[in-house]
Amino acid sequence: MRTPEANAIIDAGFSGKIITRLLEQRGLSVSDIHATFITHEHNDHCSGLKGLSKSKHIAFFANKKTAEAINVKLDRDVGWTFFENECQFYFRDLEITAFSLPHDAADPVGYVFSLKNCREPAQGKICIMTDLGYVPQGLTQYTSDVDCLVIEANHDLQLLEFDPKRPGYIKDRIRGRYGHLSNEAALSFVSKNYSPRWKKIIFVHLSSDCNKPEIIRKMLQKYNFPDNLTFEVADSPVTESYQCQNSTPMAAPTGA
Ligand SMILES: [Zn+2]
Ligand SMILES: [Zn+2]
Repeated sequence: MRTPEANAIIDAGFSGKIITRLLEQRGLSVSDIHATFITHEHNDHCSGLKGLSKSKHIAFFANKKTAEAINVKLDRDVGWTFFENECQFYFRDLEITAFSLPHDAADPVGYVFSLKNCREPAQGKICIMTDLGYVPQGLTQYTSDVDCLVIEANHDLQLLEFDPKRPGYIKDRIRGRYGHLSNEAALSFVSKNYSPRWKKIIFVHLSSDCNKPEIIRKMLQKYNFPDNLTFEVADSPVTESYQCQNSTPMAAPTGA
């Protein structure tokens, strides 16, 4: 995510080497990153923290439970900056709110980012929510007044059902209330809770075995969304850059 005053990444699910390469592709280096906002402690979201935390100039944001769960894995503290869920906080010119998500982690969150001191409707407001078993009703307060919604579309129900690699209990976990959103659930949420403010929807966190971008693109054709709403499906490990007036989200992980 890039604003006039801040370069930030959401999660750090890749090795330091890959993070460095991905930043280079965007004309940046680790030294340009000011902050990392962590959603939860699962490896596909924080396995690069060990390397990244050697860069002492980066601020690492998480809530306490997530930080504690990561500290146990890393066997050390990365020097966290804590926030409270559902309470607004600030970093440079960013205004941030983290909100709880139903997922099998210590205290998983999604984020809303906007520019500080921007009169509504601010341009470039973004909501990011991955790793959730279902979308709780109250979450529309975070999704409805944003320009860009980044939402998990993890798996195709059929591909998951017949996936030979995953045992039944893993499938149950993925499909469960604290697992991951299916394509159907993600599209159903977007359709039922459509907001005229939305300009872009980005589907992320696709399972490499149990999903394909073309399945989501085909499903989208069944809906009658307005022409001024654009869709992206992240078919690479990192969400394609989203250009809008003031900010550019950069990274969201894939996984299962
Ligand atoms: Zn997770
Ligand atoms: Zn994940």
